[in-house]
Amino acid sequence: MNVEKKETSAAVGHSLKGKVCLVTGSTSGIGLGIARALAAGGANIVLNGFGKPEDIEAVQADIVSEFGVSVVYSGADMSDPDAISDMFDLVLDRFGAVDVLVNNAGIQHVAPVAEFPVAKWDAILAINLSSAFHTARLALPGMIEKGWGRIINVASAHGLVGSAFKSAYVAAKHGMVGLTKVIALEVAEKGITCNAICPGYVYTPLVEAQIEDQAKAHNIPREEVIRNVMLARQPNKRFATTDELGGIAVFLASDAAASITGTTIAADGGWTAT
Ligand code: NAD
Repeated sequence: MNVEKKETSAAVGHSLKGKVCLVTGSTSGIGLGIARALAAGGANIVLNGFGKPEDIEAVQADIVSEFGVSVVYSGADMSDPDAISDMFDLVLDRFGAVDVLVNNAGIQHVAPVAEFPVAKWDAILAINLSSAFHTARLALPGMIEKGWGRIINVASAHGLVGSAFKSAYVAAKHGMVGLTKVIALEVAEKGITCNAICPGYVYTPLVEAQIEDQAKAHNIPREEVIRNVMLARQPNKRFATTDELGGIAVFLASDAAASITGTTIAADGGWTAT
């Protein structure tokens, strides 16, 4: 009886304090939301991604001052395996380990298959899928040694269903869901979990720009763009927020999620239930 009580409180009262969380593509959007949520839980953060140096410095300084954690930045290009390797050298030198790896960096391009630019296909597969293989292969030895680790892959509703004109993105995101299952199986007995979050549309600066562009292009009000164009397939008719995605990542990193592995959590307002 006592033992059960102790286990229950340990699972609920988890803390990320002192853990090292590497979030790829975290200079904006979902990755930044996840990095901030993990920092709010007490984790030290490795930021990665592109942007103006002064903007990245401001993001870094905000996290340090708001949450009192350490933050390191790497500008490694996720399409370049050597740069990913150098990023790990930097992180291991500074923090000694990566406890929580969030594979989030991603790009999109929309075109019919017959017209899809070959360079775009290669870039999307490299950034949205292969980078997760490279980061995982470099993070896993340390996690195995510690007997604890979390790999969280930011896939997409497009990791579960297709859409016309998004061949590379849908292929990469389905691939990421497959990779998630394989990693989970390989390390199932090592205290390490690997899961994928599959968001539908999430409200980010990029999405905001798309709303404005579509409203101008079709000459329709932004409410109509949101409801009938962008969220046409999202039954709850609202964007998920980067804070919500951060909350899911914190949950997956917690002890309460220790038995959740090799699966997907759809945050898509019901899209993939249809
Ligand atoms: P975003 O464009 O706001 O952020 C992407 C991040 O990745 C940025 O920090 C950018 O600098 C970084 N990045 C891009 N190319 C990179 C590279 N080669 N190397 C390193 N970093 C790179 O996008 P977002 O909407 O926040 O998307 C983040 C992830 O979530 C992506 O994998 C995306 O596919 C996925 N996603 C987004 C939505 C959505 O509606 N926004 C929905 C489902 C899935």
